[in-house]
Amino acid sequence: MENIYDLVVIGGGISSSTFIANILKKGFKGKIAVVEAGRGLGGRCSTRYSYKDKKLALNHGCPNFNVNYSLKNSSLDDFITELLDKNLIKNLENSCFEFDENYKLSKNYTNDFYLGNVYTSTCNMSKLVENLINLYNTKNQIDFYFESLIVKLNFNSKLWNIISNKNKKIVGKFLVCTSNLLLHKRSLEILNVCEIPLRKAVNKKNIKIDEIIKLTNKQEYIKRNNFLIFTKENCHLEGIFDKDIIHFIFNEKGQKEIGFERIIFQKQFNNSLGIVVHTRNMEHVLDNYDRENKKFLYQFISNKLNKFLIKSQITFKNLLLDDFSRMTWRASQPIGEGIPERLQICEEYKIGFCGDWFQVEGYGSVLGAISSGLKLSKKFIKFYEIND
Ligand SMILES: Cc1cc2nc3c(=O)[nH]c(=O)nc-3n(C[C@H](O)[C@H](O)[C@H](O)COP(=O)(O)OP(=O)(O)OC[C@H]3O[C@@H](n4cnc5c(N)ncnc54)[C@H](O)[C@@H]3O)c2cc1C
Repeated sequence: MENIYDLVVIGGGISSSTFIANILKKGFKGKIAVVEAGRGLGGRCSTRYSYKDKKLALNHGCPNFNVNYSLKNSSLDDFITELLDKNLIKNLENSCFEFDENYKLSKNYTNDFYLGNVYTSTCNMSKLVENLINLYNTKNQIDFYFESLIVKLNFNSKLWNIISNKNKKIVGKFLVCTSNLLLHKRSLEILNVCEIPLRKAVNKKNIKIDEIIKLTNKQEYIKRNNFLIFTKENCHLEGIFDKDIIHFIFNEKGQKEIGFERIIFQKQFNNSLGIVVHTRNMEHVLDNYDRENKKFLYQFISNKLNKFLIKSQITFKNLLLDDFSRMTWRASQPIGEGIPERLQICEEYKIGFCGDWFQVEGYGSVLGAISSGLKLSKKFIKFYEIND
């Protein structure tokens, strides 16, 4: 007979790790299963290691987060302070520069991701999520199941049965979904199923479940295409590269003129530069180049990048770019109305939800994911104390 977990959490992103860290901190003693489709933790805050050399690493999704609210005396503020105290995150002060359409430095930030205090991981983004989930996991309460894409859910009045694409079954008394994929119609194509999995599992009328499925299906997502590039060893950008990380960001007009959303440089262990170029709304252009030949696509990105560096006088000669790959994020951030936080938990079905898709501080960003994880942890502990 298989293990019965007290709690099964689908997804290993930053909302999941925040939720788990906080229930463990509050004394949850149960056994937890974390089930993640990817090869490791991180979700959209994850880091890719180069195939050529595993020590070369780039944050290929979200590279930073910001707090542009007054969080005084809130649990969110305490949590950010704890991450700073435990040296899991650091301030990105003096490392971010915004440019306008004339390739000139702007005086103020206008990009939403750079307003207020801007933070990043002290190591890399995957490690941040990993360290966070293990912060209070001192008694090895968590089993991890990676490369396990959940395609089917089933609730039999007491227990949740969760089934992966490889037919692995995991059983739990309480289920938390940190992604909305299992509630959303895009699951039909992505998971190759005939019915939205949560709808199939809860097919009787339940006001909360009906509402969360209805509202989630109104949400749309921003697409992003990121390019991951490494330079040859010992490559420097004259003068500015005393820092480990540099962000060049573009204002709205700058994004139209230059074609990129931002360019992020991460110094590597061998003194080469790792570069991530973030793009938005460029699918048609990129796909055209890609269709012809990958080489044309990478040449196109390389020319644009070097043009920016030279025109903005960051460097005077072209960088030699070595190792290219492309990452397409079909659902990088939710847009439209967020889901009300009152729908985060459904006691009757012993299910909870968190993630950046909830209408909380920082909706659609890391702050929103953290905030929703904290809020769910309070609701879950209250449920657990009453029902256990
Ligand atoms: C390119 C990019 C740049 C970004 N830049 C910023 C930024 O600068 N600042 C900022 O604040 N935010 C940024 N964001 C948004 C930020 O990354 C997200 O808001 C945040 O990471 C969401 O965390 P989460 O835990 O809610 O979701 P996720 O990180 O998406 O975690 C959900 C996890 O669930 C897993 N999963 C889903 N369905 C299943 C299933 N059926 N079975 C098993 N596992 C499943 C997924 O694989 C995923 O790992 C960016 C996002 C992208 C993609």
